[in-house]
Amino acid sequence: MEPLGPLGPSSTDALYFNPDVEPFLNTAPMRDVQWEKLRHAIRFAYEKVPYDRERMDAAGVTPDDIRSLADFGSSLPPVRQADFRAVFERFDLDMDRSFLHLFGRERMDDIHFISTTSGTTGIPTPYPFFHKTFPLAAELFGRVGWRAGFVPGTKLALLFGLSMHVAGIPQVFWFSRLRGVTVLNIGAEVGTERILKAMKLFGANAMTCTPSLATYLIEKCPEVLGHPVGDLRVKVLLLGAEPGAGIPEVRARLEEAYGATVLDVGAGYGVSCAHPVYQGMHWIADDHCLYELVDPVTYEPVPLEDGARGLACFTALAPEAGLFYHHLRISMNDIHEVTTSPCPCGRSGFRYRIVGRGDDMLKVKGVSVYPASVQGVINGFVPRVTGAFRIVLTERPPLVTPPLKLKVEWGEGRSEADLPALETELVAKMRAACEINPAITWLPPLSLERATKKTQLIEKQYE
Ligand SMILES: [Zn+2]
Repeated sequence: MEPLGPLGPSSTDALYFNPDVEPFLNTAPMRDVQWEKLRHAIRFAYEKVPYDRERMDAAGVTPDDIRSLADFGSSLPPVRQADFRAVFERFDLDMDRSFLHLFGRERMDDIHFISTTSGTTGIPTPYPFFHKTFPLAAELFGRVGWRAGFVPGTKLALLFGLSMHVAGIPQVFWFSRLRGVTVLNIGAEVGTERILKAMKLFGANAMTCTPSLATYLIEKCPEVLGHPVGDLRVKVLLLGAEPGAGIPEVRARLEEAYGATVLDVGAGYGVSCAHPVYQGMHWIADDHCLYELVDPVTYEPVPLEDGARGLACFTALAPEAGLFYHHLRISMNDIHEVTTSPCPCGRSGFRYRIVGRGDDMLKVKGVSVYPASVQGVINGFVPRVTGAFRIVLTERPPLVTPPLKLKVEWGEGRSEADLPALETELVAKMRAACEINPAITWLPPLSLERATKKTQLIEKQYE
C-alpha cells in the first residue's frame, strides 16, 4: 500500500518533481523502458480486457506478432471515444456489463469512482478510476504541478466544475497529495461572486480553471471585491479545457491583469512552460503512457519529429493503473502538432500543441486544414476584422473542392474601401500559415450570429 504522506521535492529549487525519470523523457533509453512496459500492456489487454481482445482479433494480431514499438504502430487501428457507444448499445445500456467488457474483471474489482463527460454528443463517456490509479495520478499531477510552480505554500483555487470528469474532483484528490499544496475546493458551480470572495478569504495564490472563466473574473473582480484582480496576488494560472496560453492575445491579457504566469495543461499528460513564446505543452509521462501520432484518415503512423501532425493516441504502459487511457491506442479525437527538439526553457519532454479536432478536419487539394488554424489567422487581423467568421461548406466534409469559402466580418468602424488591401493580406497569410487560397465574402460587423457557448465555425450548405 502506498504511504499516504505528501509527495514532492523538499527543496523549492529542484528542477523536476521526479529527478530519476524526468531528465530521461524523450530519450533512447526511455524508449527501451517503454517497449518493456508495452509488452506487458499488450498481454494484459489481450488476456484480461475483452474489448481489446476483440479489437486485436479483428485486426488479426496476437501479442506475439508485435515485436517492437514500430510493429505496435501498425498493428491496430486506434479506438475513439465514440466507438464506446456501440458497446453500450450492444449491452442495451447496461453499464455493469458494458464496463466489464470494456475494462475487464481485474480492473472492475478495483474500481474507485466513476466520472463522466457531459455527454453533449449523446451518451456520456464514463471514466472509471481504479485504486491502483491513485499513486500514478498523484505522480503525474505532481510532475505537472511542480513544473507549474506549485511549491510548498501554494494555495490552489480549483475553479473547474467539480463534476467535470478529470478537471473537477479527480484533480482535488491528486493535487492535494503534493507537499505543501492546499487545494481550495471551490468549483465553478458556485458562481463568480463566491469564487472571488473565497479566493480572497483563503489567500489563493494559484488557480486552475478555463481561460474563459479567468478572463471573466478580470471584469467581475472590481464589482465584487472593489479592486482589480491583480490585487489578489495570484502567481500562477493553470488553464485547461479550451485554448488559452497558446493564444498570444489571451495569454498577454491574463498575465497583465493578474500579474501571473499563465500556463496550459491537458489534452494528455502535459503542461506548457513559462517561456515568453508559447512552446506547446511538455509531455511528462513517457514512462507511463505511450504517445503516438497517426494520420486521422488512414491511421498510418506519423513519426514524432519537429512539426509532425496527427491524431494523438495513448496507450497506458501499466494498464492496471491506467489514468483516462484504458485501452491500447485510444484517441480523444485531438489533432496535435509536436516539437521534439529541445525547448528553450531547458526542461525535458517533447511538446505538443492542439491543432484541432479529428472530426473537424477538412482536406483542400490534399492539404489538411483545421477550422482552429483558420480562426488563428483571422484573429491575428483583429481589430481590422471582428474575428467572427464562418467556413462555408457546399459538400460533405472532409473533402473540399477549392477554393475554401469563408465569410468574414470586417472590423467595427472600417471602410469598405479598405477591403481589397485587407483581403490581399489575409489571403497571403492563409497561404503561408494554412497552405490555402480562400475565397472571401465580406460582411459588415455583427452579421454573423453570436453563440454564448461554443461558436459553430462551419456553415453547412450541403444539408
Ligand atoms: Zn519549455
